[in-house]
Amino acid sequence: MTPTRRRSDRDDAARRAALLRWYRVHHRDLPWRRTRDPYAIWVSEIMLQQTRVETVIPFFERFLARFPTVGALARARETAVLTAWSGLGYYRRARNLHRGARLVVREHAGAVPQSLDGLRALPGIGAYTAAAIASIAFGVPAAAVDGNVVRVIARWDGRKGRRDDPALRRAVTARAEALAPGPRPGDWTQALMELGATVCLARDPLCERCPVERWCRARRSGRPDRYPEAAGLQTPRKEHRVMLLVRRGRRVLLLPDPADGGATVAPPSMAVSRPPAARRAATFLARANGVLDPPRGPLRTIRHRTYSHDYTIEVWEVAAGSDQHGGNARWATAAGVQRLPARAATLKALKGL
Ligand code: SF4
Repeated sequence: MTPTRRRSDRDDAARRAALLRWYRVHHRDLPWRRTRDPYAIWVSEIMLQQTRVETVIPFFERFLARFPTVGALARARETAVLTAWSGLGYYRRARNLHRGARLVVREHAGAVPQSLDGLRALPGIGAYTAAAIASIAFGVPAAAVDGNVVRVIARWDGRKGRRDDPALRRAVTARAEALAPGPRPGDWTQALMELGATVCLARDPLCERCPVERWCRARRSGRPDRYPEAAGLQTPRKEHRVMLLVRRGRRVLLLPDPADGGATVAPPSMAVSRPPAARRAATFLARANGVLDPPRGPLRTIRHRTYSHDYTIEVWEVAAGSDQHGGNARWATAAGVQRLPARAATLKALKGL
C-alpha cells in the first residue's frame, strides 16, 4: 500500500468516526428511528420516497397503528390500505407495499428478507431502498445513494460535474460502496442522509456546523455550493383544472381517479387550456355525468403543488339528475371523503364544502 493510499484510508476512518459521533448527538428524533423492526423501516423508506419528513411522520404513525405488522398489512383489503395512505400521494407505493407484504407472508413466512437481492425482489424496492433497509434494519454494510448522499460525497471528494450526470452518480456510488463497510452500518447510512438533509444543504451548506469539515475538498475551495453543479431545474408543470361536484343533498359523486389508475376516488375533473374555458368544461363534465342543468361556479379556486405539477383547481357544482351511474360511482359527504382513498388535491378541494 502506498503512503498516499494509507493516508487516505486513515482520513476515511477518521471522517467516519467524526460523522458517527455527530449523528449520535444531533440526529432528529424520528419515529422510525426508535425501532429496528424491518417492517416499520420498510414502511418509512417507502413513505419517504419523494415526500418530506414532516409530511410523513403522522402518516407513518397512523399506518403503523392501523397495520402494526407485516401480517396485518398482508391481511388488509386494498381499499383499507389506500385509505390509510390517503393524502400522501403516489399511490402506487401503497399498492406495492401491500403486494410486498403479501409476498413476504407467502414466501418468507412473514420475515422481511435480509439480503439486498431478497429485498429488491419485493415490489417497489429499488437499489436505494434495499440498501437503506438492509443497513438500518439488519446492519448490512450497503451503500444507500440518493440525491443527498451524492451531494455530500461529491463535496468531500471535490467532484465537479452536473448533479444529474450519470458518470458523477456512478463515481459517487462506487465511492459510497467503498466507504460502506465499517462499524455501525445502519447509523452510517442514516448519518450520511442526516448530514445531507440538515447541514450539507444544496444551496447553502452550513459548513461551520459540519462535523467533517476538515476532510472536505469542496469546503476548502471556498464555494462548496458549486459541488456538484446544479442540474437543469425541473419546474413543475402548470395545469388549470375544473372539478365538478355533482351533488345529491350533502353528498357528492366520486369516481375512480384516472390520475392514479383508479387507486383513489375524486369528483369528475378535467384540465382546461385557459381559465375562460372553465364554464364549458364544467358543463361538459355535468353532461358526461347525466346532468343537463348549468353548473354554478367557481365556488372556490385552490392551488396545489406536487414535485411535477403546479395545479390551479376551480371547483364547480351542480345538482345530480335522476341518472344512472356506473358501478364504480360512489357518493360521500365532504367529511366522508376524508376517510376514503383520495389524493391531497381532492381532499383540499373538498374540505369544508
Ligand atoms: S464542509 Fe460543507 S460542503 Fe463539506 S460536507 Fe460539510 S457541509 Fe458539506
